[in-house]
Amino acid sequence: MTTPRETRLHILLVATEAAPLAKEGGIADVMGSLPIELAQLGHDVRLFLPRYGSIDPKRWGLTQTGCVRTVWMGGVDQTVEIWSTTLPRSLVPVYLLDHEPLFGRHKRLYLGQDQRDEQRRFLLFCRGLLEALPALDIVPDIIHLNDWQTAPCAAYLRTSHHHLLRQGRGRIVYTIHNLQYQGRWDPTILDESGLDRDRVFGPAGLEYWGDVNWMKAGISYADVVTTVSRRYAEEIQTLDYGWGLDELLTQRRSRLVGIPNGIDWDTWNPATDDDLPARYDAMSAAAGKAANRTAVRRAFQLPDDPSVPLVTMVTRLVDQKGLDLLQEIAPQLRALPLHLVVLGTGLPEYEALFRDLTATSDNIRAHIGFDVALSHRLYAAADFFLMPSAFEPGGLGQLIALRYGAVPVVRATGGLADTVTDIDADPVQGNGLSFVPYTAAALLETLNRALRLYGERERWPSLVARAMVYDSRWSASARAYADLYHRVLRLPITAA
Ligand code: ADP
Repeated sequence: MTTPRETRLHILLVATEAAPLAKEGGIADVMGSLPIELAQLGHDVRLFLPRYGSIDPKRWGLTQTGCVRTVWMGGVDQTVEIWSTTLPRSLVPVYLLDHEPLFGRHKRLYLGQDQRDEQRRFLLFCRGLLEALPALDIVPDIIHLNDWQTAPCAAYLRTSHHHLLRQGRGRIVYTIHNLQYQGRWDPTILDESGLDRDRVFGPAGLEYWGDVNWMKAGISYADVVTTVSRRYAEEIQTLDYGWGLDELLTQRRSRLVGIPNGIDWDTWNPATDDDLPARYDAMSAAAGKAANRTAVRRAFQLPDDPSVPLVTMVTRLVDQKGLDLLQEIAPQLRALPLHLVVLGTGLPEYEALFRDLTATSDNIRAHIGFDVALSHRLYAAADFFLMPSAFEPGGLGQLIALRYGAVPVVRATGGLADTVTDIDADPVQGNGLSFVPYTAAALLETLNRALRLYGERERWPSLVARAMVYDSRWSASARAYADLYHRVLRLPITAA
């Protein structure tokens, strides 16, 4: 589709992950797909990422742009170099900021938000990329920032780099993918940043209880703030989900928008998925999923009994994901007629929990690690996909599960509440099972409902088919972002 010249926007997306180049969580899937979808709508879209040591330059065809910048930070001159490539299966340019000591040397994307070096890395990333824009001839109408690590761009753009906003039509969009991670640090970091402390370190800027808070900077300085589901946009204005920023978000509610995530239907397609032992579509789901389930059970040394459903999880092993509820019902889980297979990595206590359950139970297995190919096989093999999250901004796991005909069992929060409708509450439209109170009892009761549902053999195939036709494609969401960009351009310019 093409867009008339006057409505063609120059969009710069700034992020810390984009699949398949660098991925740890859902934001990578978003940044791997959204730019391509926006480009297909006719916009000029570019993406900026850090150049992590884990990004193989040969595999991804990285080339030098010739743009080298010296940035004064932390009392010394730091040299950054910009490399480029395109997002696979597209012509969308990706620019990668290279700084060997802070990014190249690290295979992991994040060092943990409670480290000073983590602050230094992303401050340099933000300042360095802004300084590189003129040399790269990038004059954006929209600068779309994502999560705390890229929020310093907003602080620079409202102060030392305000001239960059005036060259294009210069509006800032900030997306909260997860409000929990705020990038809080003591204000001495500002001395290293090149930011004018007097201008930014106050209640209307990035100060929060005496600390620097980059998430707050993003929310305060952006023209519009978005988050990745409508429900989460509401929830974060409340004490329970606001992580201390609920009042600020409530003040900014007229500029706060929820736009749901989609998934890439080419990457996530059981009919063409090379990672699967058996490919299938909605017509052949029963046989196809059974073959995939048999393969997973064999790999995890579980008996292949079709009367016992396979429940899977693919998740970061962190508190957010409801793992404490699973821990609480572990004794009952061992006795339920189901198999649970978990793929995940994260906090040591949860890794230990699942290792222990694998060693001591007949029906629970885990693979501790990050393995994209295995994740595809677990979505395909699953009868149910479990996400009992305490909170979930958008959630991609449940969308991928639906696409692969795995019935989601979720806690009704954030994006999970927006995308999964309980089959008992709505037998006609329902596409999964959900519970509201964040309690072990509610989770257990819902797993028991899942077992009863699985026992209804005549009803089951239609439920799998209904899951598979759920429209989670990006197109509607990409159009919502494009509409928002146009709306934000009509807003008055925010003063420096
Ligand atoms: P979050 O962004 O909070 O991690 P989402 O559900 O939005 O949660 O996205 C998680 C994404 O990361 C999904 O694509 C999921 O398949 C993937 N993922 C999570 N953990 C793993 C893992 N251990 N191995 C492979 N993929 C994983």
